[in-house]
Amino acid sequence: MHAAAPRSVSDIPPAGASLPVRDLRQGMVRGARGRCPACGDGAMFASFLKVSPACASCGEDLSAQRADDGPAYLTVLIVSHLVGPLLLVVYMAWQPAPMVMVTGFCAAATLLSLLMLPRIKGGMVGFQWAKRMHGFGDGDPGAPDYDARTFNTRDFDARSPAARPVDAQAATPSPRP
Ligand SMILES: [Zn+2]
Repeated sequence: MHAAAPRSVSDIPPAGASLPVRDLRQGMVRGARGRCPACGDGAMFASFLKVSPACASCGEDLSAQRADDGPAYLTVLIVSHLVGPLLLVVYMAWQPAPMVMVTGFCAAATLLSLLMLPRIKGGMVGFQWAKRMHGFGDGDPGAPDYDARTFNTRDFDARSPAARPVDAQAATPSPRP
């Protein structure tokens, strides 16, 4: 008797589910410090925000990361929530000239964003590494985002009646004559 095919996406085990659990906190802290999440020794970034293809120290493949727009989104979210209320506090306390407010807060928001971006990106890559997301799943840099060994698209093919639950088949309206 073979194992039952997964009936829904939630039945599919995450990629690398059978592999050892990685330390999430350690991976994120190492990443936020700009270090490789695996060894904490090699540099994560080849330049300001460009992640190295692999760790120079332990050889961990870092090209599997998919941080994309996430770090920029989180940076804007955090910086705006810090600077926004501060804008009001500073004005109510000292009432500086409008140009002082504009230049001061633009400079502060820019500086804060540039300081936070690599740290947040590093933490996010560390998160993806620890959770074995994307290509971190099985060490194969070319691996798709799902694990092809456990996920067979035929099981979810809407054209295949055998893939549907019996009640769904019964509820399917017959085609018009
Ligand atoms: Zn490393």
